[in-house]
Amino acid sequence: MLISNFANILESPIEFIKGVGPQRGELLRQELEISTFEDLLYHYPYRYFDRTQIVKIGSINEQMEYAQVAGTLINIVEEKTGRKTRLVATLYDDTGRLDLLWFQGAGWVRNSLKEGEKYIVFGKLNFFKGYCSIVHPEIELWNAETAIAGRQPVYSTTEKLKARGITNRSFAKLTQSLFERLNPGDVPEILPAEILRHYELCNRYNALKWIHFPDGNEHEQLARHRLKWEELFISQLKIARLRLQHTAQKGWKFERVGDYFNEFFRRHLPFELTGAQKRVLREIRTDTGSGKQMNRLLQGDVGSGKTIVALMSMLLALDNGFQACIMAPTEILAQQHYFSISAFLEDMGLEVRLLTGNVKGKIRKQVLARLADGSLRIVVGTHALIEESVQFQNLGLAVIDEQHRFGVDQRARLWKKNEMPPHVLVMTATPIPRTLAMTMYGDLEVSTIDELPPGRKEIKTVFRRDAGRAKVMEFMRGEVDKGRQAYIVYPLIEESEKMDYESLIAGYEQVKIWFNENKYRIAMVHGRQDPAERERNMQRFVKGEADVMVATTVIEVGVNVPNASVMLIESAERFGLSQMHQLRGRVGRGADQSYCILLTGNKISDESYKRIQIMVSTTDGFKIAEHDLNMRGPGDMHGTKQSGLLKFKLADIVLDSAILEQARIAAMQVLSADSRLELPQHQLLRHELTQQSKQSHWGKIS
Ligand code: ADP
Ligand code: MG
Repeated sequence: MLISNFANILESPIEFIKGVGPQRGELLRQELEISTFEDLLYHYPYRYFDRTQIVKIGSINEQMEYAQVAGTLINIVEEKTGRKTRLVATLYDDTGRLDLLWFQGAGWVRNSLKEGEKYIVFGKLNFFKGYCSIVHPEIELWNAETAIAGRQPVYSTTEKLKARGITNRSFAKLTQSLFERLNPGDVPEILPAEILRHYELCNRYNALKWIHFPDGNEHEQLARHRLKWEELFISQLKIARLRLQHTAQKGWKFERVGDYFNEFFRRHLPFELTGAQKRVLREIRTDTGSGKQMNRLLQGDVGSGKTIVALMSMLLALDNGFQACIMAPTEILAQQHYFSISAFLEDMGLEVRLLTGNVKGKIRKQVLARLADGSLRIVVGTHALIEESVQFQNLGLAVIDEQHRFGVDQRARLWKKNEMPPHVLVMTATPIPRTLAMTMYGDLEVSTIDELPPGRKEIKTVFRRDAGRAKVMEFMRGEVDKGRQAYIVYPLIEESEKMDYESLIAGYEQVKIWFNENKYRIAMVHGRQDPAERERNMQRFVKGEADVMVATTVIEVGVNVPNASVMLIESAERFGLSQMHQLRGRVGRGADQSYCILLTGNKISDESYKRIQIMVSTTDGFKIAEHDLNMRGPGDMHGTKQSGLLKFKLADIVLDSAILEQARIAAMQVLSADSRLELPQHQLLRHELTQQSKQSHWGKIS
């Protein structure tokens, strides 16, 4: 009963709300994807006009970033500058005045404003010669009539909607008429009563009502808390269900540890494994021996020795009669894996082959044929491996290096390479803080290598400003004269590729002043080169035929040149933390003392300074990742944008990590009691999950 009722009114087309109609309905759909009553309900205000928060214009100072003021509007004038028109108006109260400016929509803004009326205004403050203004303010009539409600919700809208008269105020009115038609029963509770009680959450109807029209601060807080809780809880339920699906997935059983593994371990392994490597291998061994499919994420800082773990896991697959593959995101990384793995296995007479886009003709045919008939057991490659034409006789383990360069659907394609999906080991050098891992990779088991091989010299990291450039260059030349190699990396910002290219070339010219071309060999790598040329230059450096590598961040991931001992990061203030950490990981791979130099402009922002201080103070990738998450927020984290799992309307997995933790526990409790959500108290929850998965890409995730 409840469900059909629910379905009826909230699924009504938006046109049926008073004041919408076909034309506005179409606009709302196009501009904000609001097409039903329910969509409008979930179009939350992002702030409120609140009488208690009004400041006097006279008390505004340059330390304030935003302000809400109220006053009388005068002097509304359109000013023409060149072909453009802008609208200027003045707002005054009994303590002072400020200017309001519009650069867009001057015409309709002007028509909607009245001189001499009282308005409430909110916006970002600009100061110029001690005079204050607000550009494109939020502005509402503020007279006895409109000011009755203690707080007025402020909704995001678009220029186009505003131009058609759908302003903030209209949204408030629409939402109001929606609530006039809704009974609490139309918005049934989806969270089990037990959870509401235990976590002291307000009910859903109230939460939605209060977030639009809070009658006091306390109710707003309750509403937000509850809605965030719901978002995080549902995300955790989805992840836990995915994980249940995975754990229910039958997999190949690796029954034994055989000759390949043992012989390698006893005779060919050139060093003692670290404790962390041993632990992770045990975890993999347990997973692959369980009869279930393994889906494991192996995270470990750069240089922590993930490759050997992958290699030994592959030997385990071979011992059980299976083939194994390792997939890297780029040609060069695939080659490097190919070389290092071949070298490890050479003495055992185990053949390894490479399969990338560059492997063509006869050789490609041969590799494909031998994978299909099973005479080739190990293959290293790029995404060429997941092409339809690549058939395995019996693939048992797929290792994926550098996760974030591959989409989840690519991971899914690997599953199809055998009758039952192979075990999957995903390796990433971007350490992921726990809260993020819970949200992003909650469907994978996580192994962590938290220990570096012994004898590594800590990379010395220093911060220098442009004024000290000459000394930096001399230092680098000194290192190169000792036979080492050096990287010089320039930032790359997508929006201004041209400018970056120019600064790279200018940098290259500069480098040539310090590293005379008659004596030193310089290689350059950047995104504008065609892949073959980039490849050639990269190889020159890898083989030691170039002393200095001038590059944009294309070299960021995985390249291993043990003789390289200096990493100079140019304009370091423009880099993010994890990016700098990845870059630094390119050195410190050999026996020599290595250096990372962060070179910045002479003046940098506080934020940049903080990032640089973090880099100087630690080389621990996990600490850096935590800082990164805290400073930037998850949306910006390396590679998380594509995941699509992090879209929350209200919740923030950093700020709300306490709620996340509760939600995770609650989700697990619910599922452990009722894994298919069949109990009566879980019906509406299940309905909600089904609804959401219809709308999103969740269903497609491996
Ligand atoms: P990453 O985790 O960044 O992929 P690699 O697997 O490339 O790291 O390992 C970095 C280097 O450390 C390689 O040269 C590798 O041979 C070496 N290495 C790995 N494990 C150990 C160990 N237990 N002891 C000494 N050296 C090791
Ligand atoms: Mg690696």
